[in-house]
Amino acid sequence: RVKDEGRGALRFFEAAMDVQLQGRRELEQELRGAIGRDELRLFYQPIVKGGGEIESFEALVRWHHPVRGLVSPAAFIPLAEQTDQIARIGEWVLDTACAAAARWPQPWRVSVNVSPNQFRQSDLPAVVAAALARHGLEPDRLVLEITEGVFIQDAATAVAVLNALRSLGVRLALDDFGTGYSSLSYLQQFRFDKIKVDQSFVRRLGEDENSLTIVRAITHLGHNLGLEVTAEGVETAEQLAMLRDLGCDQMQGYLFARPAAATASERDRARLRSLFAGEPAKICA
Ligand code: C2E
Ligand code: MG
Ligand code: MG
Ligand code: MG
Repeated sequence: RVKDEGRGALRFFEAAMDVQLQGRRELEQELRGAIGRDELRLFYQPIVKGGGEIESFEALVRWHHPVRGLVSPAAFIPLAEQTDQIARIGEWVLDTACAAAARWPQPWRVSVNVSPNQFRQSDLPAVVAAALARHGLEPDRLVLEITEGVFIQDAATAVAVLNALRSLGVRLALDDFGTGYSSLSYLQQFRFDKIKVDQSFVRRLGEDENSLTIVRAITHLGHNLGLEVTAEGVETAEQLAMLRDLGCDQMQGYLFARPAAATASERDRARLRSLFAGEPAKICA
């Protein structure tokens, strides 16, 4: 009996797997045509300096699916990464982000995510150079956000590609810092322009002493290496106060603005000015 139930459970499990696999294949098929059908969109989220001015916007891709609605990148970027689609999607993102930034007020930069297989599969320096040239965007106004995953497999090649990108004049950020297996070793292998402290640390600022200690240590480490430090996932005024006190260079999070189809409106900017009014409080001493 127990055995039968076991077999039944297994069959049920296999059936569920088939459905999942089927769903995945369908999504993958649909994704293949998404660019052609003009279903991808870029959303933009401001990255704010310590005084409240906008430094840049991070471009975050969404898939406007005719039936499923707005599909999050967490659902389709991994799928694109596992198939051969990430290079094309990545090119579309770069091109669209550069076109947008070329129309923004001068000081604003655009920050673009590059995932590990995109980094490996495409000739990224050539793709980036072409996008910059096509839209006449100054290289210095493009930031590429890469994650530690690019170093896995072949770190030497990754460093060579990063150096080629660096010589184009674009800026390079290490995203989700502190969540990988050997974050420090990557800082040793390549000199980034900035590190982005992962949201998991920022989220718990003010809740536990350890998170404060970790964010403070990362900020000092970054500054001692001559890098800028951005905190991701800032949601509360208390987190903002602590990060300003720690001397974090830039902040990003729902407190300032959620990712949106257009860049910050005048209302958003008024909100930023009021959030940053006054000197940072001394609270982390
Ligand atoms: P990421 O690069 O670390 O981007 C930050 C994510 O945190 C975004 O999620 C953003 O909407 C979200 N976020 C920002 N502020 C807050 C906050 O205060 N609280 C919380 N809870 N979340 C916040 P999103 O847009 O869903 O993107 C998820 C991930 O998908 C990104 O993480 C990035 O790894 C990837 N991704 C997004 N767009 C692209 C793209 O164009 N190309 C590639 N290769 N990957 C992308
Ligand atoms: Mg990012
Ligand atoms: Mg991140
Ligand atoms: Mg992330």
